[in-house]
Amino acid sequence: MSANDAPETLDPEDWPAMRALAHRAVDDAFDWLSSVRERPVWQPTPAAIAAQFHQALPRTPQGAERAYQDFHDWVLPYPMGNVHPRFYSWFMGNGTPLGAIGDFLSAIVNPNMGGGNHVAIQVESQVVDWCKEIVGFPAEASGLLLSGASMANLVALAVARNATADCDLREQGVGAQAAPLRVYASVEVHSCAQKAVEMLGLGNQSLRKVPVDADYRIDLAALQRMIDEDHARGCKPACVIGNAGTINTGAVDDLKALAALCKREKLWYHVDGAIGAVVTLAPRRRELLAGIELADSVALDLHKWLHVPFEAGCTLVRNSAAQRATFALTPAYLKHAERGLASGAVWFSDYGPQLSRGFRALKVWLSFKEHGLDKFGRLIDQNIDQAHELAALIRAEPLLELMAPVVLNIVCWRYRPPNLAPDQLNAFNEELLIRLHESGIAAPSYTTLNGQYCLRAAIANHRTESRDLKIMLDAILEIGAAMSREPLGRNPNKS
Ligand SMILES: *Cc1c(COP(=O)(O)O)cnc(C)c1O
Repeated sequence: MSANDAPETLDPEDWPAMRALAHRAVDDAFDWLSSVRERPVWQPTPAAIAAQFHQALPRTPQGAERAYQDFHDWVLPYPMGNVHPRFYSWFMGNGTPLGAIGDFLSAIVNPNMGGGNHVAIQVESQVVDWCKEIVGFPAEASGLLLSGASMANLVALAVARNATADCDLREQGVGAQAAPLRVYASVEVHSCAQKAVEMLGLGNQSLRKVPVDADYRIDLAALQRMIDEDHARGCKPACVIGNAGTINTGAVDDLKALAALCKREKLWYHVDGAIGAVVTLAPRRRELLAGIELADSVALDLHKWLHVPFEAGCTLVRNSAAQRATFALTPAYLKHAERGLASGAVWFSDYGPQLSRGFRALKVWLSFKEHGLDKFGRLIDQNIDQAHELAALIRAEPLLELMAPVVLNIVCWRYRPPNLAPDQLNAFNEELLIRLHESGIAAPSYTTLNGQYCLRAAIANHRTESRDLKIMLDAILEIGAAMSREPLGRNPNKS
């Protein structure tokens, strides 16, 4: 709505007022973040607030103040909870204040990280080089930042598929492949591997799920048998995915043995290190990851155990030519120049599916420099210690039952009142978890192991202290005791 014929812009009419609003936003944000412990972990969004998100397209301006106020009133008070010291659901990081400033500054500079010659590209190259150091990859390896490990696994598996195919897969497509490609991973592999093989046109049947041992690690003999079977059937074993920290229990496959097997069988060796790749930084646990440095490709997450604000994951590929051969495509309008803005050694658009890409590298670069990687390693050890503490508390409590061995930071257990049938036990624990979430005291999540519903805590939390784990268990014991006294509590599904 320009009042006269002056050209319009999106810059503020009043820069000092925008600056004051920005300062207020930072003050509100840091008040909110530094007092997080005093609030409930989670609470449902009230209906009156949820109703605010069904408005018609705002064609006329509300102004920055009002837009910010709506965020402040409607969004800020109802977080997912993963910034809280008693959040242990799924597998998430907490974020950090400087990481958040990094996101802000990325958006201010706002470069496009597809390519070109500008210093932000150097920042991402630096971060990718640091990720190579974390997993022990050679400097010549390639890689790029992605939204998270789902995309990092997809990109790596696309390279694995193209590099192992017996046809020109880019030109001819999967239909031209003479022997169907087969990918192997344990039954504990993350669902993103299935999505990846489906999106890559291989079909879910190409993902052979290998049984695990009692510690939820891939059964190497069974893997060998399945590979032999597939050869005999005329399929082409192409790739093995090793788990460096499974989502269910945190199990780490024998990464060294998998490397040897892949070498012997001439298979692409990929490691899903979404959870565990960064355990290489932890002074007291890094041995668990021995062998990850032998992989052909690794997917790791930076927004999980390194606490970079969402989204930040990384793919690394040992053979950079294979990664370029999968993704590089240079039409006239993207031709790389020798000099000028369109020069530059690395175009990240040649290493993945995205052309326009955000400057997520900045928050990673700032976080690594702020704290140093040794500290992140100690925090990982601290979380693993806390998981063992939690497991000890569970073992010592007759009404609680530990359901899986603790290797990293994931603990699975259940409340076990006497005299409940297996399906009643499952229903009891499901209801107990919901009541715990609704209490706002703590937020573990859940999984099912061998048909048994478990409460599950993934302690990837730099704010957690030992007392938080006690508070969670006390709440669980209290809710469990109350449910045991209720006739309905014994069979909540019939309520
Ligand atoms: C979280 C996770 C993924 C998926 O990563 P996103 O960052 O959520 O996309 C893949 N594998 C494992 C083992 C995970 O824990």
